Amino acid sequence: MSQTYHSGRHFLQIPGPTNVPDRVLRAIDLPTIDHRGPDFGRLGLEILANLRKIFQTEGPVVIYPASGTGAWEAALTNTLSPGDTVLMCRTGWFATLWNEMAVRLGITPIFLDTDWRRGADPAAIGEALAGDTAHRIKAVCVVHNETSTGCASRIDEVRAAMDAAKHPALLLVDTISSLGSIDYRHDAWRVDVTVAGSQKGLMLPPGLSFNAISAKALAATETAKLPRSYWDWRPMLEANKTGYFPYTPGTNMLYGLNAASQMLLEEGLDNVFARHDRHAEATRRAVRAWGLEIQCADPRHYSSSLTAVRVPEGHSADALRATILERFNMSLGNGLGMLKDRVFRIGHLGDFGDLQLLGTLGGVEMGLRAAGIPHKEGGVQAAIAYLAGNA
Ligand SMILES: *Cc1c(COP(=O)(O)O)cnc(C)c1O
Repeated sequence: MSQTYHSGRHFLQIPGPTNVPDRVLRAIDLPTIDHRGPDFGRLGLEILANLRKIFQTEGPVVIYPASGTGAWEAALTNTLSPGDTVLMCRTGWFATLWNEMAVRLGITPIFLDTDWRRGADPAAIGEALAGDTAHRIKAVCVVHNETSTGCASRIDEVRAAMDAAKHPALLLVDTISSLGSIDYRHDAWRVDVTVAGSQKGLMLPPGLSFNAISAKALAATETAKLPRSYWDWRPMLEANKTGYFPYTPGTNMLYGLNAASQMLLEEGLDNVFARHDRHAEATRRAVRAWGLEIQCADPRHYSSSLTAVRVPEGHSADALRATILERFNMSLGNGLGMLKDRVFRIGHLGDFGDLQLLGTLGGVEMGLRAAGIPHKEGGVQAAIAYLAGNA
């Protein structure tokens, strides 16, 4: 097979892993140090302090050398017991995978389904909790930003619905594709466990994941009976007090995490969120100008980290993506689960600027033309007009 040679940078516009900034790559490219030596403790404490700012919490955050899926498992096994009932919102592919993990762990989920075109429904959550007068439901599990659909759930409204139902369930939230891109407040929304990963908004390679833990979740771990060893928070929290880890940490990834956290805090979280909102709006304007449909049907649930775009009936999103990769050297996200071949996903999160967005949208518009997908011209022009007019 002949391989096309592409000059210039590859455009990695999938919604994670995202482009890793040079400053982070350089930080990772340093000699590994003794993880029990004096320098390491200082590094650990600095990283943990910066992470708390990014999660918007005063409480502890733990770091696992694992993909986001590992941190899901940690969230469940540290807080729940076999046979416990949990309420899970099936808003898309990632929510479904989390649901399947819960079942495999011996948890009994009650599912709240959506049409994968909007986020979780706070009213449905409130109703389910209000009906549970015996308080059998131990936790509510919600994916903040459903990466398969480009729909973001309103965690503030989910919290308000739980409060209105006066229900004591824990709130567990997956922010793997929203932390560091979309406003997220662990403490203010009284989330009990926040799950996050390194390779999306945090601008790192894949390989680290996180749990931010409330006092209530920490209390639940004392009685939670699901088997856990590696994922147990307690030895981790004990070692983290002095900046160390109970086992060998991903030292070089932590160098990268320190650099990435500093970058987010230097830019300022509010500016980071505004930048993502602006790029998402420019992208949606391009999609509408093309005459294509955005998968998210509720503007209140638009994701600022990615946009999933539906291709017209009778056309293949995967063929379009293959054309764009081969001709223009850009990777776009594929459709997952029931959206396979029906949507393509444009990632606009992480280390990203206006010109990169225009390159991305330019690649999509050229691809639509090259692949023969019916569309109108002018998407890129619509994005230019928006970006130039809104500093
Ligand atoms: C990427 C992603 C996951 C999966 O994380 P891994 O790092 O692949 O284990 C889970 N949930 C959401 C919302 C994601 O975007």
